[in-house]
Amino acid sequence: MDAAAAASVARRVAATVRPDIRALSAYAVGHADDGIKLDAMENPYGLPDQVREAIAAAARATPLNRYPAARHDALETAVRAAFGVPDAAALLFGNGSDELISLVIQACCAPGDVVLSPVPSFVMFDLSARFHHARFIGVPLTPDFGFDLPAMLAAIRTHRPKVVFLAVPNNPTGGRWPDEAIEAVLAAAPGLVVIDEAYQPFADGTWMPRAATLENAVVLRTLSKIGLAGLRFGYLAGAPAWIAEIDKLRPPYNVDVLTEAVMLAVLRHKDVLDEQARRLRASRDDLARDLAALPGVTVYPSSANFLLARFSGKMGGNAVHQALKTRKIRVRNFPGGEAALADCLRISLGTPDEHAALIAALRDILA
Ligand code: PMP
Repeated sequence: MDAAAAASVARRVAATVRPDIRALSAYAVGHADDGIKLDAMENPYGLPDQVREAIAAAARATPLNRYPAARHDALETAVRAAFGVPDAAALLFGNGSDELISLVIQACCAPGDVVLSPVPSFVMFDLSARFHHARFIGVPLTPDFGFDLPAMLAAIRTHRPKVVFLAVPNNPTGGRWPDEAIEAVLAAAPGLVVIDEAYQPFADGTWMPRAATLENAVVLRTLSKIGLAGLRFGYLAGAPAWIAEIDKLRPPYNVDVLTEAVMLAVLRHKDVLDEQARRLRASRDDLARDLAALPGVTVYPSSANFLLARFSGKMGGNAVHQALKTRKIRVRNFPGGEAALADCLRISLGTPDEHAALIAALRDILA
């Protein structure tokens, strides 16, 4: 395309695409082909050969020339059994839990309606709200990243949100909000509360047993953090009347035949995923202790498969992030200017060798 044509395209884009979308930056996806990847809460352990064989056999047996079936009955049965979804709860599957976040907002929010969540939290709550012309209200956590219940209740009274998102445990801070605080939000919320349990496999406690009986809440889960981030599968559980409405927005065939086949094969070996999650969780305290022993480093309590650490010594978070990057160790920084996260890095749990390499590198960098 020559320069004149490119300029013409740019003019057409500017005249056609929504100004608020043009002003956004796309969601940043970290990528690394080599080195140590501790930036995206992935499970560092691959699947054992026996499970990979089962997946390969399932994929071979799956016809790709037909659309997925209208219902996923076998997968529903498997998901219910594997993750303790109550019989009376309805289930909705998504292409990752990201898709389900988007569908909930589409189902509930007319333009200008409010989506509310504590901040900092998962950025897609905010982005997805904007994509769908909803207004996002973030309620700051306390300075040490606790749940500010009085501020949440006041914001709910003021803004009457259609949807409240509570990530439990929270990303990127790692804390699990107390059940009584969530209970108080449920009692105050005029609309729907989404309890996002993406990191539940690394925490104590779950709201899933109550998914069918909560009148104004649904429970969201993903397979991404326990070993299947590449597959894109999440699920939403709740009272059938809620799920039936949200299901109307679901693109047909959003869960493809390979995802369904692989999920069925993997869930027959769910004990492997559980064992890996247990191993990761068991390594969390040691890594937290080693990080906290470094000069100028504060580590926040985590119930998830990552730790948030603040680097307030001679080198700030961005400098430490860069120094780790040159050593091919990827962690997550927050360059977006969110004041609460200044100098914070989010470090996903990895293997014991990866933790040892990280701590050695940080000792060197901070020396
Ligand atoms: N919820 C929370 C709280 C998350 O942190 C994430 C991933 N960063 C997601 C949902 C989305 O996960 P996925 O789309 O991979 O299921």
